[in-house]
Amino acid sequence: MTETPLEWLALARGTLDRVALRRRDDAWLKTAWADPRTRVLVVEDGRSLVSHDPDPALVFVPPGDAPPGDRWLLGVDPAGVAYFGTAAPLPAIEGTEPAGLRRVGALLNDRDSGLLTFVVALEHWHATHLFCPRCGAPTEVRSAGHVRTCTEDGSDHFPRVDPAVIMLVTDAADRILLARGPQWPADRRSILAGFVEPGESLEQAVAREVMEEVGLAVRDVRYLGSQPWPLPRSLMLGFTAKADGDVPLRPDPEEILDAAWYTRAELREAVEAGEIVAPGPLSIAAQLIMRWYGGELPNMPHF
Ligand SMILES: [Zn+2]
Repeated sequence: MTETPLEWLALARGTLDRVALRRRDDAWLKTAWADPRTRVLVVEDGRSLVSHDPDPALVFVPPGDAPPGDRWLLGVDPAGVAYFGTAAPLPAIEGTEPAGLRRVGALLNDRDSGLLTFVVALEHWHATHLFCPRCGAPTEVRSAGHVRTCTEDGSDHFPRVDPAVIMLVTDAADRILLARGPQWPADRRSILAGFVEPGESLEQAVAREVMEEVGLAVRDVRYLGSQPWPLPRSLMLGFTAKADGDVPLRPDPEEILDAAWYTRAELREAVEAGEIVAPGPLSIAAQLIMRWYGGELPNMPHF
């Protein structure tokens, strides 16, 4: 059977050209910043200003109104308009409100969803990499916000992204494996996920996590798609896998409170009865579950 890829992922929709070669082009950057068409996206604690008319849309400020501080080149749109990001207290603009990815990441248009995802990721990286991991001296921003350089030893440091695998596991009867994490509400269930370890392939990470969390061997690990998840700095890589053989689930009590197999009818009934709340459409988990289920589940939140 061929695997169809995931068609829509809320945070993987960015449309701008990132123009990475312009990041060290000081003359170009200066011209772009002087252009009144240029737009600046201010971010504070993972949120930017959004207007509703009626759909949510990011609210930008022109460079002349931008707060002082480091600015990061985010990209250029097809009309040649440049977009920058900066971390600062959000300005007071009538008719706007602060919103983060969990609120509006699935609702914004493709361009804005990509911009907010990018700026939130950069904000977190800058805020947590003020000092050199080699010598402890302060770092400073270079390359229009895409490198931090040590002021003592000159070493360059690049934005961090942590790969994490998330996998929809099915058994021989095409039932889906859903589990509940220890910190989750009683009615929350999702598919298994975990971070990739150093020296490990994605496929090995899928197999290891499923074995660790529920004691199950898997085969036929297939990649379906990815989306950034800068909450705070993951890249989610979505897979399917099949249970190898018919062995009982042995959930690791430290990681999984309970785990069970569901047919489509059983999952629909559990959701309709309010026993299970499925993940919202922002997540790659929801897209993997819908792909298996064959559409949206009842009562699925639309944001
Ligand atoms: Zn250093």
